[in-house]
Amino acid sequence: MPQVCKEQVYKPTDTNIPRLGEPKVKSPLKHGRYVDEDDAVLVNLSRQSVEGTKGRKKRDPAYFELAGPRSNLYFDPSKAKCAVVTCGGLCPGLNDVIRAIVMTAHNEYHVPSVLGIRYGLAGFIPSEGYDVLELTPENVSQIHEFGGTMLGSSRGPQQVGEIVDALERMNISILFMIGGDGTLKAAERVQAEISKRNLSIALVGLPKTIDNDIQFASPSFGFDTAVEKATEAIRCAHVEATGAPWGLGLVKVMGRESGFIAAQSAMALQDVDFVLVPEDEFDLSGENGFLQHLEKRVRTHGHAVIVVAEGAGQNIIGQSREKDKSGNPVLGDIAGTLKTEIKEHFHKQDIECTLKYIDPSYIIRSVPANANDRIYCSFLGIHAVHAGMSGRTGLVISRWNGRYVHIPMKLMTKARKKINTCSNYWRAVLESTGQPGSMKNG
Ligand code: ATP
Ligand code: MG
Repeated sequence: MPQVCKEQVYKPTDTNIPRLGEPKVKSPLKHGRYVDEDDAVLVNLSRQSVEGTKGRKKRDPAYFELAGPRSNLYFDPSKAKCAVVTCGGLCPGLNDVIRAIVMTAHNEYHVPSVLGIRYGLAGFIPSEGYDVLELTPENVSQIHEFGGTMLGSSRGPQQVGEIVDALERMNISILFMIGGDGTLKAAERVQAEISKRNLSIALVGLPKTIDNDIQFASPSFGFDTAVEKATEAIRCAHVEATGAPWGLGLVKVMGRESGFIAAQSAMALQDVDFVLVPEDEFDLSGENGFLQHLEKRVRTHGHAVIVVAEGAGQNIIGQSREKDKSGNPVLGDIAGTLKTEIKEHFHKQDIECTLKYIDPSYIIRSVPANANDRIYCSFLGIHAVHAGMSGRTGLVISRWNGRYVHIPMKLMTKARKKINTCSNYWRAVLESTGQPGSMKNG
């Protein structure tokens, strides 16, 4: 009997977007259609969310504001000044977002200046000594051809007060922050400081997560490229595994707390025999442990391919206490543990397996975005500029139910998005690998 699957999506109650003031300036846009102020997208598309459930009091469904150009702006574009910063790890598509922001600000709104802040939040801090970069249509025109971020990025704590001091000194009207969960938390604090000082600075976030683990940013930009690149590595591992007696291919992909890249790549290829993700704890040894199932698979088929997300199996190795510069926990080395344990397990049965290990993580992070992600990133950048110009602040741009929307920044950091292991999605992943529903003993 299948388990009843509880919906894990965080249900928002307040989806209002803060505004800096009344929009009194006529937009200079020449093409397209303006979005009406009350255009909105249902958060939950299900019938029950609109009609209510039997026997329960009907609640008003929640909506996200539709993104797009507004006829009236808060900022006078001819006098506005924008800044862009990229923070955290690399992800395909960062340059595409920067390019779209610069092109839209210059070509559509004729904003006189867009500044690029170098090396993440550190670029705001005078003692770090980084120059700002004037971004123009000319110097960003080709950046989408390259991976990484033309601005550079960094981790590490920075004083929020010092960041806002820098925004005041540079006379910034709109700040675009492109980054992950840490960046969005930093952005919330920057916005709070801006409000405290009563400044007219709009802050627009663009959620970046190669792991696809930010709530309401689904899918996140770069994820499609990451899956495509990961499948190339897994295909190689499969070739290696089938080319040797007792052949094993082990591929580690990104996924600190959410195993979407691993799961999605396995589904795409159908050649993977085991997907190990952080959401699904497993045992190594014992009757129902991973090693027993692996041995069974190799004995019957001659080879096996394993895809492991970097954050999987932390219950086996135990979390280290180390933290990175931004305070994120440093994960235990699951791939190293698997390599040792697998070899030892087969050795004990007098079998010399051939294990080939591939870690494509840094290749995946640094490639240019694929066609889908490029288009996605362009729209995110374009809508970010429209939102900032209209005086909206404390929001992120995302695609939700097929439309581009404004989502309050505070909603994004409330809960991390994870694979629901009792969902039909996870069941389809398991069906594609043939691994058991659980590899826990007892
Ligand atoms: P990734 O997903 O690649 O890790 P990230 O945005 O989460 O991206 P972090 O290095 O965690 O990357 O954070 C980016 C920046 O935000 C860093 O400069 C970090 O110091 C800052 N930051 C993170 N969390 C907070 C917080 N709670 N308050 C203020 N600043 C923060
Ligand atoms: Mg992070």
